[in-house]
Amino acid sequence: MTGGSTLVAKLNRLGLVRDEDLALHLPLRYEDETRITPIAAAIPGEIAQFQARISSTTVVYRPRRQLLCHIEDGTGEMVLRFLNFYPSQQKALQPGVLIRTIGEVRGGFFGTELVHPRFRIVAEDESLPQALTPVYPTTAGLGQSTLRRLIARALAQAELSETIPPEQLQSLDLAELRASVEALHHPPPVNDPIQFEATLRPAWRRIRFDELLAQQISLRRAYTARRARGAPVLEATGILSSALLQQLPFTLTGAQRRAWQEIASDLAQPHPMQRLLQGDVGSGKTIVAALAMLHAVEGGRQAALMAPTEILAEQHYRKLVQWMEPLGLELAWLSGSTRKPDKEILARRLANGEIRLVVGTHALIEESIGFSDMGLAIVDEQHRFGVRQRLALKQKADSPHQLTMSATPIPRTLAMSYYADMDVSVLDELPPGRTPILTKLVAESRRNEVVARVLSACRQGCQAYWVCPLIEESEALQLKTAEETYTYLRNELPDLSIGLVHGRLKATEKAAVMAEFEANRIQVLVATTVIEVGVDVPNASLMVIEHAERFGLAQLHQLRGRVGRGQHESVCILLYTQPLSATARQRLKIIYENSDGFEIARQDLALRGPGEFIGARQSGVPLLRYAQLEDTVLIEQARQVAEILLRDHPVQAERHLARWLSGTEELLKA
Ligand code: ADP
Ligand code: MG
Repeated sequence: MTGGSTLVAKLNRLGLVRDEDLALHLPLRYEDETRITPIAAAIPGEIAQFQARISSTTVVYRPRRQLLCHIEDGTGEMVLRFLNFYPSQQKALQPGVLIRTIGEVRGGFFGTELVHPRFRIVAEDESLPQALTPVYPTTAGLGQSTLRRLIARALAQAELSETIPPEQLQSLDLAELRASVEALHHPPPVNDPIQFEATLRPAWRRIRFDELLAQQISLRRAYTARRARGAPVLEATGILSSALLQQLPFTLTGAQRRAWQEIASDLAQPHPMQRLLQGDVGSGKTIVAALAMLHAVEGGRQAALMAPTEILAEQHYRKLVQWMEPLGLELAWLSGSTRKPDKEILARRLANGEIRLVVGTHALIEESIGFSDMGLAIVDEQHRFGVRQRLALKQKADSPHQLTMSATPIPRTLAMSYYADMDVSVLDELPPGRTPILTKLVAESRRNEVVARVLSACRQGCQAYWVCPLIEESEALQLKTAEETYTYLRNELPDLSIGLVHGRLKATEKAAVMAEFEANRIQVLVATTVIEVGVDVPNASLMVIEHAERFGLAQLHQLRGRVGRGQHESVCILLYTQPLSATARQRLKIIYENSDGFEIARQDLALRGPGEFIGARQSGVPLLRYAQLEDTVLIEQARQVAEILLRDHPVQAERHLARWLSGTEELLKA
């Protein structure tokens, strides 16, 4: 594309295409250009506007090149300082010229000054604006004045007719839309900031409501549309699943049984399931997935399970093979490192339906892979995939049933908004016989004691993970640290067998190390966060996490969940290095005090806010621009109005959706 620098391209980048998009592009804040402050009355720290004549403009070098422009207005003098400037600016600032300039007042070494102020040349009798000047979110090369002009014009023409029926407007005490939008672009001049905020509050409330309403309409509509789509009715004979249950060394928990029933009843419906199976780490999601896969096979369809990492996919594969081979079922395996000829054979056998069950990584969604009759698509640890990838698997068949699994619990407000389109099954019970994990916070200076502890645990037949610090800036550095730790531990613990696994290893190498660890031929596994999700080695009962202060809460919880899976008393040691930032301290406290993933997620959301918590990439849903997810009441009201609109005023509902979510709709259906 060559149009990247045109005005239209810049506007597109901001999502501004139609008049109404511009009208709904609301200010971040306002500047007060309604008043002129005499230079003599300038107060350092305040933003103020001055009108003054230029007395001199010079380029100086002290210490670096900068443009100084002296102005005076009859009450006093001040300096405008520009550290970066264009020749055109220098030229415009001619002595004798009258300018209006606005910026933050500073008491500089050379007297009162404005650094990089906005300025423009004015006529002697130029009038002052009546309203505050809006400042808009913008993009490189698109100036505020251009944006303002475009928005003012669009606002006059935009179609902003009311989409909410009068009864609801009244009962919810909502301000009228056009009036709200106009007030936000051109607010009344109010001096007192608290009163100013109060004046605009009803307008903002209306905007936030409208945005949430659009989200709710969209989710609700997607839900209804999905219910109207056809999907294969999968009749379970129960032959395979009961055979599997009989050979398991354990019985299902009540929660697993319930989740399995919910899934089974969805699969027997003539419309596609879209269910999230949510359960804390170690709650036993895999067996539920396996039962669902068997259900699909009993119903005559293929089933696929996709996992986000090679290690996890491989582990699922091995576990599922162990469960399914005795039933006489073939399970296929596909990953990025599957050799080309093997892959071609596999692709052919998947496409002609010979293969009924497959487990794999992203390789499953490659172009070359197709299914003959996939009836069930399962995505594990769904939050680790981008939304397009999640969609891609189910798009490999004509509306299959979809099951996603996640160990990251969704707090209630998110469940009410972003995930409202899904049905959810929760595993709220851990399998019996789990020993609670003891969490310890240990300062880095006591590292030797930790090493001694690893030794004694391994002498008693247990195994340990040693997780190396996350180094966000550099994968290479992270790798180096992991290798150093590996060498260090080999020196310190010469009697133990120590392994190393990290992201740079080839998939086959990774798999080999993991297999050795599972067989207890490796006692201590030094690892980067590649082991974060899903890894399941019940004999491992000690987890050491170095620089725990650098990890996020969800990550710490996931990592800790790698232990506490077997009969041994499990310990998770969080090694931290001083000094701790306030949030790091807070995080460590939360993880130390809590073992319940839901509670941790709730506190995490409170600590970080929803934007960071879900992250646009993970949710795939455009983050709300104006609304706040803390606002449970408003979300609930929006949900009710969405239902009313869809039932009684479908045209208005469409209108509302088109206004707020043009172009982003597709993603909401993920
Ligand atoms: P997650 O929910 O984290 O994916 P997994 O499916 O990996 O959990 O299960 C964790 C471990 O618990 C596995 O070793 C699994 O075989 C075992 N497990 C699952 N369900 C039960 C159960 N009902 N009783 C005992 N152990 C179970
Ligand atoms: Mg799992």
